[in-house]
Amino acid sequence: MSETSTDTDQPILTPPIQHYQCCHCGSTGLDSIGDVCPHCEGLGFC
Ligand SMILES: [Zn+2]
Ligand SMILES: [Zn+2]
Repeated sequence: MSETSTDTDQPILTPPIQHYQCCHCGSTGLDSIGDVCPHCEGLGFC
């Protein structure tokens, strides 16, 4: 064997680049009325 690397080849998966956008405010952190989103508490993601 000529294998020198000990690391196993991991299949590179492409993760969905979506930082858990809040389904309520749409990652804005604000509600439709401009108030703090009660779903994510203004974080913008949940
Ligand atoms: Zn949400
Ligand atoms: Zn939200």
